[in-house]
Amino acid sequence: MIIDIHAHPGYSHSLKGLREEFRVALGVAQQHEVDRICLSSLANWEDSPEPDRVRSGNDAVLALMADHPEVVIGFCYVNPRHPQEALEEIERCVVEEGMAGIKLWQASRASDRRMDPIAERAAALKIPILQHASYKTGGNGTGESTPADVASLAARHPQTMIVMAHLTGVGERGLADIAPYPNVCVDTAGGQPEAGLVELAVRRLGARRVIFGTDTPSRSYGAALGKVLGAKLMVRQRNLILGANARRLLAGRITG
Ligand SMILES: [Zn+2]
Repeated sequence: MIIDIHAHPGYSHSLKGLREEFRVALGVAQQHEVDRICLSSLANWEDSPEPDRVRSGNDAVLALMADHPEVVIGFCYVNPRHPQEALEEIERCVVEEGMAGIKLWQASRASDRRMDPIAERAAALKIPILQHASYKTGGNGTGESTPADVASLAARHPQTMIVMAHLTGVGERGLADIAPYPNVCVDTAGGQPEAGLVELAVRRLGARRVIFGTDTPSRSYGAALGKVLGAKLMVRQRNLILGANARRLLAGRITG
């Protein structure tokens, strides 16, 4: 089974547009034999959206879950700068509507204390947090987490499962930051393939802490799968990365 842990519906600002974009992406994913897609909104791609924008973005993901229940697994996007609304949105989307994870982007850093109630709720619900992270050459944005911020969150919340996004964007330094924290995995989403990087992640973290993702629509399924399929791995390691690790993190929420 192949599971994409990190995908977004599209760039459109309307559900109609997102449905059309995602229909095309889904066709490509299925051509590449991807079985499940963990889909999260980024609320119109604003850094720090207001709560109503957050809700309408999650509504679009809920609609796509209903359209494609056999494939789409929803992750609930929240903005930690609105802590109360974030917790309410987790109740609505995860507890009531069946989403299976939480997505955090670049409204605030993972080291920000406003993250704490979200991380505690994720641990209580036994769902993973997919956290955007990067080391930018020109410096990160105010709310954009570095892997060191992710390590800080992991240290404060050892019971919370965290998927740190973007192996290419975090690089060797990012792997070193999270290596001491077994509750953090890295995803392979985003960035173009770079020879040796997936192998490096496996050496530093072990194959159980590396998870396939695409960052669709900003990266293609072909390029994203090529990173893993082109890496020098044992079959067992490749199977863990492509699906078994995500299946373990999403415990019980994937059938078939
Ligand atoms: Zn993303």
